[in-house]
Order: sequence, then structure tokens, then C-alpha cells
Amino acid sequence: MTALLVGVFGAFIGSFLNVVIYRVPQKASVVSPPSACPNCGARITPWQNIPVISWLVLRGKCAACTDPISVRYPLVELGTGLAFGVVTWKWISAMPVGTAQGGLASAGAIVLLVAFLYLAAITVALALIDLEHHRLPDSIVLPSYVVAGVLLAASALLTQNHTAMLGAAIGGAAMFLFYFVLAFISPRGMGMGDVKLAGVLGLYLGYIGWGALLVGSFGAFVLGGLFSIVLLVLRKAGRKSSIPFGPWMLAAAWIGIFFGETLWSGYLGLFGVQV
Ligand SMILES: [Zn+2]
Repeated sequence: MTALLVGVFGAFIGSFLNVVIYRVPQKASVVSPPSACPNCGARITPWQNIPVISWLVLRGKCAACTDPISVRYPLVELGTGLAFGVVTWKWISAMPVGTAQGGLASAGAIVLLVAFLYLAAITVALALIDLEHHRLPDSIVLPSYVVAGVLLAASALLTQNHTAMLGAAIGGAAMFLFYFVLAFISPRGMGMGDVKLAGVLGLYLGYIGWGALLVGSFGAFVLGGLFSIVLLVLRKAGRKSSIPFGPWMLAAAWIGIFFGETLWSGYLGLFGVQV
């Protein structure tokens, strides 16, 4: 039930992310002017702004000029809603807990949920902006250090989870440095946008644990590599250089968050190591 409610809330956040995805690459304000049809300039009324449902009721057309509205808008809303629901479900079933008890532990757990919902929101925005514009805007990535840092630190303090706090600090620094070195060696393959995003993802992955950090960081190269092989097989490798790396980093980070610890302990288990 909680996951469903947070999922519906996520669809409304997705509606805002549509504005972010459209306006941030143009360096335009995300709050003013209010949303309008890009074709005829008609204001979007609140009733035309209900996630997914309004698009279906309007049959994908502007109410004023019947210009088609991209299917991307309801898909972003649906996708964000699903992401919020899944994150909340994971948070209910298994998330790092510290040694704190009672009210402090509950408060810390809620702060942690907010931290990961924030990551889900910027994941949607950054992945789509990077795919379309081949950029990871500083105006989204840099404030994320503050938001993620404050929320994760507050959660670790409230739940008395010192391991997670240390892990986040190490994870953030390690991933930033690793990508910085990669960008230095191969400036064409890796941009500074990727380096800056790596630090944010490292905070989250390190908070979860070493398995999440390893799977979440190296997974991006596995996913990107597999995709390149598929392109080679399909003889479309000429366009390989035009595929941004950010979406792979984000996808791998979520695999790390959800499955990293299990994959890592399973892998160690093959060698008889118990963790
Ligand atoms: Zn219109």
C-alpha cells in the first residue's frame, strides 16, 4: 500500500521531471513561465496536467490546437511512478539498518527512503537528457552532492549506521577518482559530466555496501560493452561513439543497489568465503 501511494506521488514528480528534461538543457527556469503547448502557447490547466491520465483523456493531443503531445511525457510519468513504487517496496523489504532503535531508527529509515527517491528522480532526468543532448547538466549533478550527502549522512546518524556513513564517503571518493583517471587517460571516451555523476552514485552505492559499490561501478562497463558488441553484430558500430555513457552508469548503479550485495556474496560463496 505504501509502495502504491509513493508510486502515485512519483507519477506527479515525473510530470515535473518532464519540465526539467525539456527546459534544463535550454538553461530555462523550471518554475516559470507555467507549462504551455509548444505549438500554440495555450496554458496547460491543472486538469490537463494529471500524470498519464490527462494524456490518455486528451488522446495525446493539445486541447487547444490538437497538435500531438509526445508519448514521452506519459512514459516519463509512468516510469517515475514505477521507479518510486519499486524503490519503496525495496525499502520496506530490505534496506541497510543501523543499531538505533525506536523513533530515531524510523526517522532515519524515512530519510533514507527520501534519499533514494531523489536518486530515482535524477536518474530519469539525467538518463533522458544524456541520451538526447549527450550532457549531464551541472545544474542537476552538482546540487545532488549536497542533497545526497546531507540525506545519507542524516540517515546514517539517526540509525547509528557508522559503516554506511564510512562506506558512502569512501564510495563517493573512489568512484569520482576512478572516473577522473579514466577521463584523463581517455578524454574522448569519458566526459567530466560522467566523472561528476560517478561521485554521486558512489555515495549511494558505498552506503549500501561493498558488493553494491563493485557491481554498481564496474557494471556500467559490462553493460556498455555488451551493448557495443550487439551494435557490432548488427553492423551499426559506426555510431558507437555517439552513445553516451551516463545511462549505463545509472542503470548499473541501480543493479548494484538492488542486487549488488546478493551478487557479491554469491560470488564470494563460490570460493567458500562466507560474508
Ligand atoms: Zn496547442
